[in-house]
Amino acid sequence: PMSLSDPVKPHRICVCVRKRPLNKKELAKKEIDVVTIPGNGALLLHEPKQKVDLTKYLENQTFHFDYSFDEDATNDLVYRFTAKPLVKTVFEGGMATCFAYGQTGSGKTHTMGGDFSGKSQNSSKGIYALAAQDVFTLLMQKRYADMDLCPYVTFFEIYNGKVFDLLNKKAKLRVLEDEKQQVNVVGLQEVPVSSVDDVIKMIERGSACRTSGQTFANASSSRSHAVLQVILRRRNFLHGKFSLVDLAGNERGTDVSNNDRHTIVETAEINRSLLALKECIRSLGQNSEHIPFRMSKLTQVLRDSFIGENSRTCMIAMISPGMSSCEYTLNTLRYANRFL
Ligand code: ADP
Ligand code: MG
Repeated sequence: PMSLSDPVKPHRICVCVRKRPLNKKELAKKEIDVVTIPGNGALLLHEPKQKVDLTKYLENQTFHFDYSFDEDATNDLVYRFTAKPLVKTVFEGGMATCFAYGQTGSGKTHTMGGDFSGKSQNSSKGIYALAAQDVFTLLMQKRYADMDLCPYVTFFEIYNGKVFDLLNKKAKLRVLEDEKQQVNVVGLQEVPVSSVDDVIKMIERGSACRTSGQTFANASSSRSHAVLQVILRRRNFLHGKFSLVDLAGNERGTDVSNNDRHTIVETAEINRSLLALKECIRSLGQNSEHIPFRMSKLTQVLRDSFIGENSRTCMIAMISPGMSSCEYTLNTLRYANRFL
């Protein structure tokens, strides 16, 4: 159903939407699919044909994005049009960032490939692994092989404004900024990798660390941002960096009324960081002088990935198709729409 030509050279910011299929639970509840993707990047959020009294949120709204992926799109297809062009950027000495944004359960981790709990998702098929494959393919190409590039991986989580190393038993790390505004995550493990399998092992290790341990309940993974970075060094100097970010669920802003203090603090922090991200990307898009990186730990840590001539950003906004999610879906679409 999708008619997409090969991706063009990426511009600085690419914004896409991915709709997941209705799941078994939603189908059993006879949920109505309120999202249509007609092609050409358009996405139509419509009133269902059946009469349902939920028109408060649905006004047959149409959004346009660089790409809109429907429920038939595979991770492979999504990858080809989002993160893949950014791998090239990193080899050319640039910085690249790819974000998965959306409510919990919309498909962020599925798309990134950091889900190892169920059998539904094979770790080797998400954006993480697909990008790793391309990194090692390019490393073998003559023009890059001659450059003496060495790949490394870091994997960390930002929870409640604090950074935890997923490759080092969730060690809490300090973030320091020097007078040149260079940000340093002190002690972050940068693991050398020599194959795709090495990278997948690190993703598995970090993902397991993300959802286990005594520090947080399992559900905390939806309230933290996970950042996987593939770093290329040339004689120990930074050549390029690719940050793949599985963002915290964006749904928690609207239901704070009956939550405990802990959850309220958590929620405030998520809202703050997602707002900061929006502000930073917008300022960058407008080539603004002042980028408010310090607004949150997330943007502070990603600072060096955003700045510079040769930096590229891709935002993939995930949406659930069901009527019961439409309020969150609208929020997600409006957030993503701001970048265009
Ligand atoms: P999130 O990380 O945004 O909370 P997940 O990636 O964990 O959401 O997705 C929730 C569930 O939906 C998982 O079981 C996942 O496998 C499934 N899912 C998400 N996106 C898709 C998709 N495009 N196709 C099939 N299943 C999907
Ligand atoms: Mg997730």
